[in-house]
Amino acid sequence: MQSLENSALQPWAAWALDYLEVGLLVLDGQNRVVFANQWFLRHARLSSTQVLHKSLPEVFPQLETSHFTLFLEHALASGFPALLSQTLHPAPFPLYMPASQRSQDKQLRQSIRIIPMGYQAASAAEQRYTLIQISDVTNSVLRERLLKAQASKLQDMANLDSLTGLGNRRLLDDKLLVELRAASRLGTSVAAIMFDLDYFKQFNDLYGHLSGDECLRKVATILRDICKRPHDLVARFGGEEMVAILPETDRAGALQLAGEVLRRVRKLGIAHAGSAVADVLTLSAGVAVSEPGHLLTPEALLDQADHALYSAKNAGRNQVCGTRTQGESLALTH
Ligand code: GH3
Ligand code: MG
Ligand code: MG
Repeated sequence: MQSLENSALQPWAAWALDYLEVGLLVLDGQNRVVFANQWFLRHARLSSTQVLHKSLPEVFPQLETSHFTLFLEHALASGFPALLSQTLHPAPFPLYMPASQRSQDKQLRQSIRIIPMGYQAASAAEQRYTLIQISDVTNSVLRERLLKAQASKLQDMANLDSLTGLGNRRLLDDKLLVELRAASRLGTSVAAIMFDLDYFKQFNDLYGHLSGDECLRKVATILRDICKRPHDLVARFGGEEMVAILPETDRAGALQLAGEVLRRVRKLGIAHAGSAVADVLTLSAGVAVSEPGHLLTPEALLDQADHALYSAKNAGRNQVCGTRTQGESLALTH
């Protein structure tokens, strides 16, 4: 199919235009199509007679309401080229992969250049043309999407603990600092609860390390389920220690929440014959709060939660303790 009407052009030049792996359209001064190369016709699934001597909206009515027409008008008014990037204008022309190829029904992602020719030189209308160059960027868009997904997966992996799926120390450190800064600006409090399983070494010794791992995953699920406000964070702090960071949570709220976690873990009913406090798996918790009148650094907040946890262990385990200020602690019974 001969798409070029200009017989003055050498045959090899016409072939070259048709063999190009980009779409080419040339419009005359009245914006009618005077040339469409093979790539364009093939991907538009049209013959040259369906395109030639027609205005673009006649052939592609959808262009009239697209940004393409606006860009074309601007380019012609200024005489300068315009570029429609695929990010903002993914697919102005209805172009598809050839019918023989896979994903043939997907519209091609396009990067489009509109290049006015002869407009700047105040040429007569019959000497003005517009070259429209369309590149298929579908593959680069897919590649970019894949790379973004991989980058975000890597980011998640760098921040998550692989056994429990909770945040890791790195995420905890980053997030705690952010939340404490926000709390200082807003005059709100941030609670930290540190959890530690009771007699867990004995559990591993009695039931095996894999059963121990399964317990950690179950406790993590409960923590995630209970600490589920958008800014709450649960992280694995160490071996079998987990921390919940709860922005905009006061002491009473944190103590109640910690108690709920303990109840839910006991309710799992995981037999623990090596525990001195119960016949099922239990855990202890320490609560500390950074309050508007008594702001704490991340280290101090975690340190106080750890102290409170130590108090809970000392007081017999299977309970929650809260520290008001360092050294002064409030023990709760359940
Ligand atoms: P306590 O009541 O005082 O907390 O006693 P405990 O035996 O739990 O003592 P501690 O908290 O020091 O126990 C740490 C134990 O946790 C040691 C190790 O067997 C177990 N542990 C740590 N990390 C893991 C893990 O990833 N998987 C399993 N299965 N066990 C772990
Ligand atoms: Mg421990
Ligand atoms: Mg323990």
